[in-house]
Amino acid sequence: MPDTVKTGESWTNWSGNQTAKPAVIHEPSTPDALKDIVKTAPGPVRVVGAGHSFTPVAATDGTLLRLDRMGLVHSVDLQTERAWVNAGARLKDLSPALEKHGLAFRNLGDINVQSLAGAISTATHGTGETLACLSAETTAFKVMTADGDLLTVSRERDRDIFEACRVSLGAIGVLVEAEIQLVDAYRLHRTTWAEPLDELLSKAMKRWQTLRNYEFFYVPFSGYGISIAHEETDAPATERAEADDDDAVLGLKRARDYAPDDIASRRQFLEQAFSNFEGEDVIGNGWQLLASERNVPFNEMEYHLPANAALDVLKEVIDYIERERPDVFFPIEVRKSAGDDIWLSPFNGEGRISIAVHAFAEDAYDFFFSDIEPIFRRAGGRPHWGKLHSLGHDELQALYPDFARFCEVRRRVDPKGRFMTPYIKSLFEPEAG
Ligand SMILES: Cc1cc2nc3c(=O)[nH]c(=O)nc-3n(C[C@H](O)[C@H](O)[C@H](O)COP(=O)(O)OP(=O)(O)OC[C@H]3O[C@@H](n4cnc5c(N)ncnc54)[C@H](O)[C@@H]3O)c2cc1C
Repeated sequence: MPDTVKTGESWTNWSGNQTAKPAVIHEPSTPDALKDIVKTAPGPVRVVGAGHSFTPVAATDGTLLRLDRMGLVHSVDLQTERAWVNAGARLKDLSPALEKHGLAFRNLGDINVQSLAGAISTATHGTGETLACLSAETTAFKVMTADGDLLTVSRERDRDIFEACRVSLGAIGVLVEAEIQLVDAYRLHRTTWAEPLDELLSKAMKRWQTLRNYEFFYVPFSGYGISIAHEETDAPATERAEADDDDAVLGLKRARDYAPDDIASRRQFLEQAFSNFEGEDVIGNGWQLLASERNVPFNEMEYHLPANAALDVLKEVIDYIERERPDVFFPIEVRKSAGDDIWLSPFNGEGRISIAVHAFAEDAYDFFFSDIEPIFRRAGGRPHWGKLHSLGHDELQALYPDFARFCEVRRRVDPKGRFMTPYIKSLFEPEAG
């Protein structure tokens, strides 16, 4: 029998823009308990990780599953530097546990509270010209299909199911365990600095080519960008002041709220603030420096763009925001990731530059769809699977050469649509109604 069962509880994602009233929420602690649930609990069955997606990818009025109680690290092979872990474990718990074995994720995104499976299932990425999204670091899965079978899949075994599982939005089955490719634990030297946007843009491509991790944020109405660079080092760790990212964002909000339509004063205030900008120059563990906390809630749209078009797209987005949207104060984030060959990875076939726009959680974000998304789409962008976008089956199929293969595997392993909510159907099988 399942270990924890809750009924009558509603579910909300991190930003609060998605809610659901599942008939039942289960938190099993063994594969046998999970099997019972997958076979018999009310459908549709969805697994939720940290609920950090902005789209209804995890929402269901059937059964919501959490895998937090299924363990952490199951086994480590120091020869191959691969580990089998609970796919439902959080990245923030996995990193220190793997560090005890001298191992680390090759790269991480901005935060580390997500579950590994949630991050994999939406192609969560960090930044780095030679560093691919987390899904590309998976080498095998134990996946429970709709009929309760626990399959071990890899490139060598049931390859098509493995490829589909690497980015799947939970539509293939429940990822119970994942085998991940790790690297030797590493230390990073982190530097951050501010500079005028034109100067930053003239150097950005070179920085991606030469730095291990490089990203930047443009602060709307400031004319300034903040760069963050990480390089590997053997030097000893240094002390780090407590992070003040949340305070900085709240400062930008105060500047917006003080005189929402007085752009001239805001520009002046921000220019002044940037002339006093104190960057960081610290050394520490990779996983501790790459990910940080994000406590000011927002909604987000992120598209992954062909590298040669992305910086012009960014300028167009900035022009639009600074012309039409004085309410926007969150920085626009720009990152680059390596290409891969995963069927539903937005980085399939080539490295891409990702541009993300954010709106404070209490503010309107309809302009993402009406004004920002068309700019991204005209340039051939592919949306982040966990962030806001308006695309359905036909538009997505046109963006992914292997989309039909994914849908074919999905139909084969879950013909009755046990994992299919109306939203997931709209992506993969609209004709199923
Ligand atoms: C503050 C914040 C910062 C972020 N930073 C980044 C970033 O730097 N880079 C980036 O790329 N994205 C980022 N994201 C997006 C986030 O990484 C993705 O939305 C990710 O999917 C969230 O992981 P989660 O554990 O919350 O998954 P959820 O949102 O809970 O689920 C995502 C999908 O995975 C499926 N799923 C979860 N567990 C399983 C399982 N065991 N088996 C099968 N399917 C499963 C769910 O059903 C759902 O379809 C950020 C989001 C927020 C809110």
